[in-house]
Amino acid sequence: MIRKTRLFTPGPTPLLPAAQFAMAAADMHHRTPEFRALFQKVLAQLKVFVDTQNDVLLLASSGTGAMEASVSNLTSPGDKVLVLTAGKFGERWVDLVKAYGCVPDVLEAPYGKTFKLEDIKAALKPEHRAVYMQASETSTTVSHDVEGVAKLVKGTDTLLIVDGITGLGTQTFDVDGWGIDVLIGGSQKAVMMPPGLAYLSVSEKAWKAMDSSKNPRYYFDLRKERKNAVKGESAYTPAVSLVAGLGAALDYIAGQAGGDLEKGRIALINNAQVNAKATREGLKALGFTLFAPDSPSAAATAVAVPEGMDSGAVVKALKEKFKLVTANGQGTMQGKIFRVAHLGFFDYLDTVAFLGAAEHIAKDTLGLPVEYGQAVAAAQRVYAEAVKQ
Ligand SMILES: *Cc1c(COP(=O)(O)O)cnc(C)c1O
Repeated sequence: MIRKTRLFTPGPTPLLPAAQFAMAAADMHHRTPEFRALFQKVLAQLKVFVDTQNDVLLLASSGTGAMEASVSNLTSPGDKVLVLTAGKFGERWVDLVKAYGCVPDVLEAPYGKTFKLEDIKAALKPEHRAVYMQASETSTTVSHDVEGVAKLVKGTDTLLIVDGITGLGTQTFDVDGWGIDVLIGGSQKAVMMPPGLAYLSVSEKAWKAMDSSKNPRYYFDLRKERKNAVKGESAYTPAVSLVAGLGAALDYIAGQAGGDLEKGRIALINNAQVNAKATREGLKALGFTLFAPDSPSAAATAVAVPEGMDSGAVVKALKEKFKLVTANGQGTMQGKIFRVAHLGFFDYLDTVAFLGAAEHIAKDTLGLPVEYGQAVAAAQRVYAEAVKQ
């Protein structure tokens, strides 16, 4: 039988065909009026997608490049910072701030959990230069309360830096109202693109802080990028084809709401949230346990396999039987959980296809006491309820 490859990983995510065509056609030089017009158009679209009046910059790097930039540009060696970590990406913040000589106070939540706001309130000190956190911790599929943290930070001298790499396009952020100083996204997540671009919004408070930050920076010098962006350029050779693809992807997202990108972004977020809920209900119906039941992210869903089973066997069986690619747990979660994505170019019928495959694996491979149709029916009930409103 024919089996299509289906990517269900939380980055890279499935590619949008219109973006692939735009990339293939983008054979322009970057110091031309043609590229400047494209770059300016995409930066303007990104402001709508991120939902901010702040500057939005585009970097030729994976998401971690923008994470690094938000450390190197905003801190000095010896600065005290607060890092909120509850997974592999939170741990990346800890490594990054240490690499730049910062002294982190680390507030940890166990894998699969989020933080208590009162603990953050108690940990936050006036001497903290910045708070670093994730919106959606992709390794555990937990969503953190960015708004709650922002309320604690607002009005202080501390900066709030949010890795929204799988938060953008799966949840709403009032960047300017809440006071998020840096919000970071990546191309291989909700915007349906290959890896290679990072984007970030930067507040006035953060621009001011950059003037007194002494850590070294060169390629990721945000002030240099800002200056060039005004002219429709980037400081160094931009990833021209990826920029063209991103423009096409944002056009597509706008096209989902009659050309209105603001509404298209909301539709994309709603899409991820409905698919996430349908997946949670479907997998629960098969006897899997949600790894993050209390504060689930809409970007991806992690479930634990029954005691004594190996989640790697599920990932492997989905791949071998259906060419369906999911993600195993990372680090100590490997073998215990598997993760399936909802962010970007997934629709409801993709979710149904995944759950149909998961039924086969649960019943035929793992021998769990389930019936065909159980997970799909649970998802269908979620969908029917969601479209009724
Ligand atoms: C994917 C991801 C990143 C970025 O990883 P890169 O490999 O550098 O693109 C960072 N944070 C989160 C939460 C992610 O999901």
